This record gives sequence, structure tokens and C-alpha cells, in this order.
Amino acid sequence: MASFFDLSLDQLTTTLDKWGEAKYRAKQIWQAVYRDLAPGPEAITTLAKPLRQRLAAEFTFGNLTSVVEAKSSDGQTHKRLFRLPDGRQIEAVLMGYEQRRTTCISTQAGCAMGCVFCATGQMGFLRHLSAGEIVEQVLWFARELKAKEDRLSNIVVMGMGEPLHNYDATMAAIDRLNDPEGFNFGARRITLSTVGLAPMIERFAAEKRQVNLAVSLHAATDDLRSELLPINKKYPLAVLFAAVRHYFETTKRRVTFEWALIQGKNDSVQQARAFVALAKGLPCHVNVIPLNPTRGYGGQATTRERAAAFKALLEANGVPCTIRVRRGIDINAGCGQLAVETRQR
Ligand code: SAH
Ligand code: SF4
Repeated sequence: MASFFDLSLDQLTTTLDKWGEAKYRAKQIWQAVYRDLAPGPEAITTLAKPLRQRLAAEFTFGNLTSVVEAKSSDGQTHKRLFRLPDGRQIEAVLMGYEQRRTTCISTQAGCAMGCVFCATGQMGFLRHLSAGEIVEQVLWFARELKAKEDRLSNIVVMGMGEPLHNYDATMAAIDRLNDPEGFNFGARRITLSTVGLAPMIERFAAEKRQVNLAVSLHAATDDLRSELLPINKKYPLAVLFAAVRHYFETTKRRVTFEWALIQGKNDSVQQARAFVALAKGLPCHVNVIPLNPTRGYGGQATTRERAAAFKALLEANGVPCTIRVRRGIDINAGCGQLAVETRQR
């Protein structure tokens, strides 16, 4: 059965037209689902019963089944493991920090990029998520928050998977979330994180969404970056930075670089210096986070002192840098990863 969340408003309109329904119905249903956050057609009481029944018979209103729910000891981070209809599992996280309610969502089950320190990379690629499956993760938390008279403030596309490897579905999901007729979530409050698929960054730039871009850098020399992130062999730093610079020129949006500090590996001031040289003249921000150790990788988190020295070197050279704390580490949150809260700019 098709998922309702994979439909565009146009497709819904065509379907309802075929069913002989009045024109305004499609928008009414759309708004009930995306604006009022009705969990399914039964809850849309403004519709006649036969139409509700038909919607329920022809579409699923949920590909995600929540199988595990974990809350961090400080109660601030809330992670869910969802099962998809084919049995694959994905994670999504909700982080509450002061006024911020940030959800971190997945775009693939597993990931093909093989970054050595990443739990998802160690899993290998299982499959792409559909646009509807990406959107549904957000709706899940949005409904939960709404029940508490609260709401989402930020979305980070930083969960399992490489969003630019699943480009079309990811952009369809972002556009759906952004849709003023529906969920109406501001693009500027959405951040997409990529391992650095340069040609896709070019495409993303050309499409001019107001979404924030974060690039997982982790190293500023090709040897080291290729060792940690195999995709660097295909898109080395010169190619990646050309794409990122082009992104900045086209969008005028400052880029964030992510850097997981691994003790004795990529946490040296030499690496920080190499970064300064690479990023010369590019308005950017660096988020560093001590590595979250994973089973498949022997590296350890850097020390507080080395993180501070790394940050100091960047800042002395005019690059703003934030050391992120690992929230919800006790539940392996951050999609097992870097569930950073990207600041709103
Ligand atoms: N595929 C995308 C988005 C998902 S990964 C990307 O790579 O950017 C989100 C972030 O978590 C990335 O910056 C990634 O490098 C980081 N990450 C992965 N494993 C991590 C770990 N064990 N510790 C710290 N950060 C990690
Ligand atoms: Fe994939 Fe991102 Fe993990 Fe690399 S860090 S393996 S790109 S999810």
C-alpha cells in the first residue's frame, strides 16, 4: 500500500479528483495532516466517514513503528528506533535544550560512505528512505510535542545515512516540511549535513534553498581525510572546497564544518593550521566534538585540553569554533553520532 506521506499535494488532488471528491478536499486533508498533525484519517472529523474510510483503505498513514524509546539520564535527549515495513531500522532523536527542540533525522538505513569511526558507516548501506519516511520522523516528534503544547524549533538532517546520496527523496522531504500550505517549517531552521559529495553540493547550491549546510570535514589533509572518510579519494579536499566555495558564492550562506576530534589522530594544531589555510577567505564556522567511540573503531575521544588548543588555534586565525558537548551519550544518541545542535543563524 502506498504511504500517504509519499504523496505530493498535486498527487493527492488528482487522486481525490478520480474519486469524485470536491476540489477543496485535497487541501483540507493536506492541512489536517501537516498543519493540524492529525495522526491518520480517522482523526480528520471534518471529512465524511466514507472518505475517511477510503483514505485509510488506500494509503498507510505510518511506515514507522516505534520499537525502542530511550531517554538520556538528564531527560534532555530522547531517541527512538523505528522499524520500517521491510524490517529495516532507523533512528531519530529529539533534543531539548533550553528553548530549543531539535530533531535529528535519518535519510537512509545504513550508509554507503564507510567513514571508519561512524556506527552507521560500519553497518554498510541497506537502503534509501523515501521522502515520506523522512518526513514521518519529523511528524512523529512534532505530534508528540504538540500533545505537550510544545513545538519543534530545528531540524537537523544528521541521522543515519548520507542525505546527498539520497538526493531526490531528501529534497522532496525538505520541500514538504517547508511547504507553506502544510507543515510550514522555515528552511533556515533546517540543517543538512553531508560527508562532502561535491557534485551534489553544486546542485544543492544551484537550487538555492535557504537550508543550512554542514560539511563533515574531520581532517584538512588528503591523506588523513581519505583514511577516515574513504569518499575523500573520490572528492579530495581541493574538489570539495571548490564546491563549498561555490555554494557560498551562490547562496551567501555561511557553511559549518564538523570535526570529530580523535585523540592523536586529527586533533593536532597542525591539522587546525591546515584547515585555516584551506578555508582562507571562506566565511564558516567549525563545530568540534570529541569522538563518540564506536565498537568498530579503536579511536578514542580527544582530551579537553587538546580540544581547547584546537579551538584556540582556529579562533586566533579568525575562524569561529564551538566545542559541542555530547548530549545523551549514555543512550548513544545523536543517531549513534554527532547529534549536535546546530546553532540558528
Ligand atoms: N552522512 C552525513 C550526516 C550523518 S552523520 C555526514 O556524514 O555528514 C552526522 C555527523 O556525525 C557527521 O558529521 C559525522 O561525521 C558524525 N559522526 C559520525 N560518527 C561519529 C562518531 N563516532 N563520533 C562523532 N561524530 C560522528
Ligand atoms: Fe555515512 Fe555520515 Fe556515517 Fe560517513 S559519517 S558513514 S557519511 S552517516
